[in-house]
Amino acid sequence: MRLYDSHAHFEGWTFTERLAVCERALAAGVTHIVAIGGCPSGNAAALELAALRPAQVRAAVGWDRAQAARDLDLGAIRKALQSPGVVAVGETGLDYHHDSCTAARQRPLFAAMLDLAAEAGLPTIVHSREAEADTLAALRDHARRWRGDPARIGVVHCFTGDSEFAAALLDLGWHISFSGIVGFANAERLRAVARCVPVDRLLVETDAPYLSPPPFRGRVNEPARLNLVVEALAAARGERPEQVTEVTFENAERLFGR
Ligand SMILES: [Zn+2]
Repeated sequence: MRLYDSHAHFEGWTFTERLAVCERALAAGVTHIVAIGGCPSGNAAALELAALRPAQVRAAVGWDRAQAARDLDLGAIRKALQSPGVVAVGETGLDYHHDSCTAARQRPLFAAMLDLAAEAGLPTIVHSREAEADTLAALRDHARRWRGDPARIGVVHCFTGDSEFAAALLDLGWHISFSGIVGFANAERLRAVARCVPVDRLLVETDAPYLSPPPFRGRVNEPARLNLVVEALAAARGERPEQVTEVTFENAERLFGR
C-alpha cells in the first residue's frame, strides 16, 4: 500500500528530525511526500529534503501570504523552481482569517506566484481561508493564462470551504485536498463537501506539523499519520480506505507529474 502525502512542512524540525520523520513515514507506507515551501526557510528545507530523498520527497517552492509584507525576490524563486525535485509552486494564496491586515498585499503576491506557475508550467498549491471570492477571481485569471495540461493546474489544500466554493474550484479544474480536519467531530459540513468531490480530483495531506488527525488532535503532526486522514475521508465518503489510498496516490502522481 502506497500513500501520497500531498502537503507537509519540514522547516520546524532539525535536520536529524526531518530524516527521522521521513523514515517513520516510509515505515507507515507513505512512500511519497510533497515538502511544502512558502517562506525562505521552508523553501530551503523542501529543496534539501527532495535532494536527499529523491524517491520519497518532492518539493514545492514559493512565497505564501505570510511573506506579503516583504519585498518579493522573484528571481530567487524562479531559480529555485528549476532545482531538481521541484514539482509545484507553493504554497501560496489568500488568508483573510489569520492575516486580514495584509489582504491588499497578499493579492499581488498570489498573482505573482500564479504567474510564475504559468511560466514554469507547474501546478500550484493554494491556501485559501475566508477569501473565497478573491481566490476564485485570481484562479479564473490563471485558468485563462494556463497553457499546461488542464488536469495539472493545481490543488487547493486543506480544504475547509463550503460546497459552492468546492464546485467553483472543480469547474476550474482544481483538485481538492483534505487534511485531518475531515475527521474532527465538529466537521460534519466538511464531510458533506468531501462526499461531493469527484474521485479523480481528491488528494489527501497531513499538513504536518499542523492539524493532527484524531485521536492525536492538538499534538505535533507528521506524515506517518496520513492513514488516519485517509480513514476519516473514506468514512465520510462511504468508501474503503484502500480505495481512497489508491485513487489519491494516482491523482497526486498525475498532478505532480513524477
Ligand atoms: Zn501548508
